[in-house]
Amino acid sequence: MKEAKKCVYELSKKFVAKEDIFKNNINIYLAPNRNEFEYLILNILKINVKMPTNKGRIAQPQRADLILLCPSAYDTDSIYKYNFDDYKRLLTHEMVHMFHEHLSVDMENIARWFSEGIAIYLSKQNEYEDEFKRPVIDGVLDNKIPTIEDINNDIMLSYDWGWCIVKYIDETYGFDTVLNIARNCGSNDVIGFISNDKEGFEKNWRHWLLNTCKIVG
Ligand SMILES: [Zn+2]
Repeated sequence: MKEAKKCVYELSKKFVAKEDIFKNNINIYLAPNRNEFEYLILNILKINVKMPTNKGRIAQPQRADLILLCPSAYDTDSIYKYNFDDYKRLLTHEMVHMFHEHLSVDMENIARWFSEGIAIYLSKQNEYEDEFKRPVIDGVLDNKIPTIEDINNDIMLSYDWGWCIVKYIDETYGFDTVLNIARNCGSNDVIGFISNDKEGFEKNWRHWLLNTCKIVG
């Protein structure tokens, strides 16, 4: 809980949120097993998810509520091994979604790669966790970088590649631009929202990616 509070405080600063977004109240539910996890998603969040849920799914945020699978159930009910640092990053990731949902003009229609990308990037999962950084590094080394169009149209690619487009926007245009997208872009066409030259953006992004990953990889 202490970590959750710290997380909200830090993200409030990051998002330059003047309003007290959650009125000092975020509800975190820890489900002791997958059944309970699904029950809470259905009955507290009223979200219809496909049952049984995938074992890779361990968190579900909505507005001021966050349902988490308790780490004590990880061994039997998830594909993950519990690790405190990973868990803190997961918490940050989910809370980024909550802030974003609150601030965004249209969370439903914004490109998936942006919403996942900003959550992965701000929680630094891409720096520490292979699951997030490997696809990009491998893709660059194998010279298999998808087009932004492909990423836009594919959920898996959105998770794998979104963070490095957000990182590129942050490093090139500044974090204000990332915030501007988070708040004001309500469409799938995030690149068109910030640039009149989408081809040029893509070319520069690829160039940046090739140079950056050579160093990292
Ligand atoms: Zn996410």
